Amino acid sequence: MSNNKPMPVPTEISAPFWEGLKAERVLIQQCNPCGQWVFYPRRHCPVCLAHDLSWREVSGEATLYSFTVTRIPTLPDFADEMPQMLAVVELDQGVRMNTNLVGLEASEVSIGMRLRPVFAEVDAQGNRLLRFTGVDKDAAGLRQRPGVEQPAPVEPARAAVRQIALSDDAALQGLVSETFSPWSNQVIVDQALIDAFAQLSGDDYWIHTDPERARKQSPFGGTIAHGALVQILQSRMQLNLGYEITGFSNMVNYGSDRLRFPSPVPAGATIHARARVKKVEKVKSGTQLTLELNTHVLGNERPSVINELVILYM
Ligand SMILES: [Zn+2]
Repeated sequence: MSNNKPMPVPTEISAPFWEGLKAERVLIQQCNPCGQWVFYPRRHCPVCLAHDLSWREVSGEATLYSFTVTRIPTLPDFADEMPQMLAVVELDQGVRMNTNLVGLEASEVSIGMRLRPVFAEVDAQGNRLLRFTGVDKDAAGLRQRPGVEQPAPVEPARAAVRQIALSDDAALQGLVSETFSPWSNQVIVDQALIDAFAQLSGDDYWIHTDPERARKQSPFGGTIAHGALVQILQSRMQLNLGYEITGFSNMVNYGSDRLRFPSPVPAGATIHARARVKKVEKVKSGTQLTLELNTHVLGNERPSVINELVILYM
């Protein structure tokens, strides 16, 4: 694929939209006084002219408003995308966007059809463009850049997974180790994600949400992620622990024995995680496995989150 395709240049007003896409979220503005949804990004509401707009996350579900199939590239750099389905879609909030449809044959496309968002990766820096596909299509499978070698870490890793029966006490005790697993995949903690968490949790303290003030006043020289946000991002970390426990009827997250936030995660940082089995013990209701899961900023010796997760197998 050519790397010379024109790319959107985020402005002060539109940056939250592009940051949202990087985090695979659709953020659009809504007018606080009158409730009007607004897209493209603006300083004021086009209906009541108020300068009081908030960015809100929406599902990205949409209806096809209009489309055309183009077979002649608008620029030579787009030759690899021909034929291209240029479209105008209407989000469920009523705003319309110019975009293109992916993963659909022309015969499958009709005006009024329901669409879902595709967070299409367009460069190695994690920039994404918002495209759309049919609601019955695999939107996740359409995200990757065509022509880019996809890493296939899952298959070889799976081959190395040891299956351990819940009834095999000796093998379970053998999992306990001082050595951590290899690092997980990496996740970017950007300001859009931090802002969304601030909105969700109600913790909108300036040290998380006000980059300008944080630059001047924070000991960290900028905004930092909430510890709780970094903690829950462990759900996005694919860990290769090298084992799989079998023969249980139920597995529950029993909470955490210990949770610490030893060092901050600055906005924009990339994090990854690793884990080790700290303890396995029989309890009345089953077998409890304590997994020490540590999340680090890439390159940092000191973890940002230490979480000793207790998993109960029954
Ligand atoms: Zn308004």
